Amino acid sequence: MARRVKVVVLGSGCAGLTAAIYTARANLEPVVLEGRESGGQLMWTTMVENFPGFPEGVLGPDLIDNMRKQAQRFGADTRFEHADKVDLSKRPFVIETSDETYLADSLIIATGATAKTLGIPTEMGYMGYGVTTCATCDGAFYKDKTVALVGGGDSAAEESTFLTRFARKVYLIHRRDKLRASKIMADRVASNAKIEPVWNTTVEEVLGTEEPHKHVNGIMVKDVNTGETRKMEIDGLFLAIGHAPNTKVFGDQLETTEAGYLLTRGAMAWKGVPADSTWFDRYPNFATSTSVEGVFACGDVVDTHYRQAITAAGTGCAAAIDCEKWLESRHES
Ligand code: NAP
Repeated sequence: MARRVKVVVLGSGCAGLTAAIYTARANLEPVVLEGRESGGQLMWTTMVENFPGFPEGVLGPDLIDNMRKQAQRFGADTRFEHADKVDLSKRPFVIETSDETYLADSLIIATGATAKTLGIPTEMGYMGYGVTTCATCDGAFYKDKTVALVGGGDSAAEESTFLTRFARKVYLIHRRDKLRASKIMADRVASNAKIEPVWNTTVEEVLGTEEPHKHVNGIMVKDVNTGETRKMEIDGLFLAIGHAPNTKVFGDQLETTEAGYLLTRGAMAWKGVPADSTWFDRYPNFATSTSVEGVFACGDVVDTHYRQAITAAGTGCAAAIDCEKWLESRHES
C-alpha cells in the first residue's frame, strides 16, 4: 500500500538535509530519500574549512552526519532509498522506490550534480586525498605546493587562476592545443606566470603514497599526438571537466536549462527573464518553485554558479520555507 506524506525530499547532501531540518521543524514530517550517493559531494571531501561555524574545520562526512541527526531529531524519516520513478503529472505526486510507493503533497528536489571524473583507475581511490573536484573548497590546502588541474573550459581557466593564489605552480593539463574557455579567461591564464599549460595531454594514472599519509604525489600523463607517457610530480590534482545535474528520473516533466539543470523562479529572475513572464504570475513569492506547482528545487541541481556547501544549505532552507508556505496557502500544512 502506498504511503501518503506531506513532503518528500529527494537527496541527502547539504541542500536536502537542510530542507529536511526546516520541514521537520515545521511539523511536515518529511521523508528524505537519500539516493544512491547518500550525503552528496561532501562525502568525497576530507576537511571543510569554509562552512561557517567550524573555526577548526569539519570533515565533510561528519558535517553530513550531523545534519542528518539534526533532521532526524525533529522527526525527519531519512531512508536509504532511491527514487526509481517519479510522476509529477497530478497531485499527490507519485514517487516509487524499490521498497515503497510514496504519495506526496509536495516535493523538494535536492538531487545535486555530480562532478565529472576522468574515469581512470586510481582516481577515486585518492578522491579527497589529493584528487579534488572543487578548487574553491580545497585550493587553500596547497599553499606553496605544485598542483595540476585538468580541463579546458571556463571552470578550468577560472579555477587554475584561483589556485595561483596558493600554489607555487599550476600545470593546466588539457587534451587539446587550446582552451575552449572564453577569450578573457583564456587570456588571464596565458598572462599568469604561475600557470604552465600542458597541451594535448591526458592523465592516465594517479600516483600516491599510502603510508604514513595517504596522498597524491604524482600523475602519469600521455601526449595524445605521440602516445608518449611520462611522470609529473605534483602534490594535488584538480578536476574541472564539468558537472552533470542528477535529473534523469524526472524525464521531461520539469523545465530545465540546455545543460539539464532544473529551472526555478529564482533562477529565471537571476537570468533576467522579464517580470511579466508566466513564472512570476504563477509563483509570486517562491524563488525555489520549479515549472510544476508544488515541486521545489534547491542546491546543485539548480546551481551552476556558486556550488558551495553553504549555498546549497541556504537554498535548501529557502525550498523548505517555500514548500511550507505553499502547503499552508492550500491548507495542507
Ligand atoms: P565545459 O565547458 O563543459 O568544459 C569542460 C572541459 O573539460 C572541456 O575543455 C573538455 O574538453 C574537458 N573534458 C571533459 N571531459 C574530459 C575528460 N574525460 N578528460 C579530459 N578533459 C575533459 O565545463 P565547465 O568549464 O565546467 O563550464 C560549464 C559551463 O559553466 C560553461 O557554460 C561555462 O561557460 C560556464 N562557466 C562560466 C564561468 C564564468 O563565466 N565565470 C565559470 C565557470 C563555468 P574538450 O574541450 O576537449 O571538450
